[in-house]
Amino acid sequence: MAVPKKKISKSRRDMRRAHHALKPTSLAECSNCGELKRPHHVCRACGHYDGREVVASKA
Ligand SMILES: [Zn+2]
Repeated sequence: MAVPKKKISKSRRDMRRAHHALKPTSLAECSNCGELKRPHHVCRACGHYDGREVVASKA
């Protein structure tokens, strides 16, 4: 519901924004090469996902 800006105190506004901070991205070890990778993403180092190579590695 829309509420006029001047009806919200600085305290109320800032309490709402207390939850807006970004959390650091989580990282998990690649099961193939041990490099840190984002969960549910293809490993950037070796191109593996779910135990198999899905992107051809440059090496
Ligand atoms: Zn990897």
